[in-house]
Amino acid sequence: MKRSILIHYHEINLKGNNRGWFENHLQQHVALLLKDLPHDYIQRFAGRLVIGLSENSPVDAIVYRLGMTFGIANFVVAREVAADLEIIKSGLADLAAAASFKSFKIDARRGTKDFPLNSQELNQQLGAFVQTLSPAEVRMENPDSVFFVEIVGDRAFLYLNKIKGAGGLPSGTGGKVLCLLSGGIDSPVAAYRMMRRGCRVVFVHFHSFPHTTLESQDKVRQIAQILSRYQLESRLYLAPFAELQREIVAYAPPPLRVILYRRFMIRIAEAIAQKEKAIALVTGDSLGQVASQTLENIRTISGAASIPVFRPLIGDDKEDIIQTARTLGTYETSIQADQDCCSLFIPRHPETMSSLEQAQRAEENLDLSRLIQNSLAIASRESIRPDFWIAGALHDNQ
Ligand code: ATP
Ligand code: MG
Repeated sequence: MKRSILIHYHEINLKGNNRGWFENHLQQHVALLLKDLPHDYIQRFAGRLVIGLSENSPVDAIVYRLGMTFGIANFVVAREVAADLEIIKSGLADLAAAASFKSFKIDARRGTKDFPLNSQELNQQLGAFVQTLSPAEVRMENPDSVFFVEIVGDRAFLYLNKIKGAGGLPSGTGGKVLCLLSGGIDSPVAAYRMMRRGCRVVFVHFHSFPHTTLESQDKVRQIAQILSRYQLESRLYLAPFAELQREIVAYAPPPLRVILYRRFMIRIAEAIAQKEKAIALVTGDSLGQVASQTLENIRTISGAASIPVFRPLIGDDKEDIIQTARTLGTYETSIQADQDCCSLFIPRHPETMSSLEQAQRAEENLDLSRLIQNSLAIASRESIRPDFWIAGALHDNQ
């Protein structure tokens, strides 16, 4: 019995002339995603993507990875047979024999008009056929089993379950952004939200080694690996922040420290974005969550940037962000104790109502361009791969 995975697109249907371009991105992504998992072919077919499975295809692992692929509304593991009524019936008999049900319905669709029966006639004939095999009754509302029959051209796909896809738009169709990734809960979720809209996300993390430990950097690597399940190959920049922090602590008013840390992060990130040809920055700020995230402070921080700074979580409650982080799989890593560079030298009463002028005045005492250049000069760049590509990783569901 030939098995295939049939992928139904999400939103791509809406994209008119760009449709082929979106489909190409998805196809290329899936090809890379499955490069180490045996399968026969990946093919664009009648507005769908079809993965031909081979005898030794690890179906569970393929399903697991496809569940984290943007641009997919749903996908199914189907028995594939020729579009011929008798052959469809025998495939359906196999499917029914493997299922246990007291009620059922047939959901048959004819994707192309060249099949002699229309969808309604198919439903009737196939329903009557299943009743010759089983005492189960036909029920339209909430049946135990739905037998899906999808006929496209000369091929018919038979299946019992649709698996919900990740939605969104295929990786790479939305342009490139640079995300400021801390080891916390929020920024990984912000990165995920941008990836879901088709962006490729490059990561930058600021560390205060030797004031903070090397484990903190490992934590960010792990988070980047989890996020890479969605875009496969990622880049992570690790930029030193200790010298900058020392200078800010020595020469700037204590209440402004965190705001000045952030303004420096933004400037260094912008320089990296330029090198990477990324169009915007992304942070995990959420309005009012901490003192540095008041509207006034966000304005002061954004004032250091000349490219857009996106904050996809700005209107989200912490509980919702945590929920997404749990689903994503970053939460458990994010809550491990570490030392973030920004938790160093925090004053008891940080400014919550800063202004741009106030920040600029404080920065007059600092040698901005030297500090930025020093950090950029020693920043390192790493290639990050999804954990399921790393030998011995625990996360693949194989
Ligand atoms: P997160 O959970 O993402 O750390 P947070 O609620 O702790 O966010 P802050 O610590 O104020 O908030 O950070 C706000 C944003 O600034 C973060 O979401 C992240 O985008 C960026 N940021 C903070 N610290 C760092 C860092 N060490 N490296 C890179 N980006 C950072
Ligand atoms: Mg944080």
